[in-house]
Amino acid sequence: MPGGRRVAAVADVSFDLAAGECLALVGESGCGKSVLASALLGLLPANAQTRGAARLAPAGPDLLTASEAVLARTVRGRRVGLIPQSPAGHLTPVRTVRSQLEETVREVTEVPRAGLRAAAERAAERAAFPLDHLDRYPHQLSGGLAQRAATALALVADAPLLIADEPTTGLDRDLVDRTVDELRRQVDEGRGLLVITHDLSAAARIADRVAVMYAGRIVELAAADAFFGTPGPRHPYAAGLLEALPERSFVPIPGLPPELDALPAGCAFAPRCAAASAACAELPAFSGGVACHHPREVADA
Ligand code: SF4
Repeated sequence: MPGGRRVAAVADVSFDLAAGECLALVGESGCGKSVLASALLGLLPANAQTRGAARLAPAGPDLLTASEAVLARTVRGRRVGLIPQSPAGHLTPVRTVRSQLEETVREVTEVPRAGLRAAAERAAERAAFPLDHLDRYPHQLSGGLAQRAATALALVADAPLLIADEPTTGLDRDLVDRTVDELRRQVDEGRGLLVITHDLSAAARIADRVAVMYAGRIVELAAADAFFGTPGPRHPYAAGLLEALPERSFVPIPGLPPELDALPAGCAFAPRCAAASAACAELPAFSGGVACHHPREVADA
């Protein structure tokens, strides 16, 4: 990095994710969501430093300290499937979906050559990708079908954990709903899904729990039905995100998120927070599902 500046893109993050559960990680662009996903996949730039642990149970490696060889041979695509932000960019433009699926089957499974075709078709079916489109090239697919093709690639090895990084970016609402419902189907079949999104409507549709990130930290972690319904979010930033939705009051949070290399002392949300007090000059600890000195009181709690 020029000048050797150090930036804490993600700090003090802690969560778990069970099989058959979807956790939605939400927050504005630049809050650290995608950096966190990259860390879990061992895809951070070479000069990045990590501390802590990210364990794949049972008996899986620590994703933060495993070597590139271990990650490449036993984790990425095998135990953790990535559903990318931009499926069109993820697919190889000069090869058909079938050939890309078969190659992935060959690389990440023990399926013998004679079984490649059937295994590729099974993965396509799991992602609801139509078999009669398998011989098409990526540019011949709609946005929704490209998304399903990318999902099929992620499902080839039947990975127990899926990470979906902004899977609905650039899709129209109808396609967002269909994509999200298909991902939810993967969860209902027993996979864990970490979905990273700034689309709260999509998160509300798919998630069991929601984690809100701001300036590199999780500021609220809650059950999705409580968060999106009653009693609602407790952190002022989380409440502001929800109120900014068109179907709610459609009032944006004032101001902009801080640059990660210029975080204020204390609570990073304080300059934008109507509830800020002198106490907020101190960084709030994450406690009881929220990191805030003045969390919204929950009635009848
Ligand atoms: S700690 Fe203070 S500034 Fe930060 S969100 Fe809570 S009330 Fe607002």
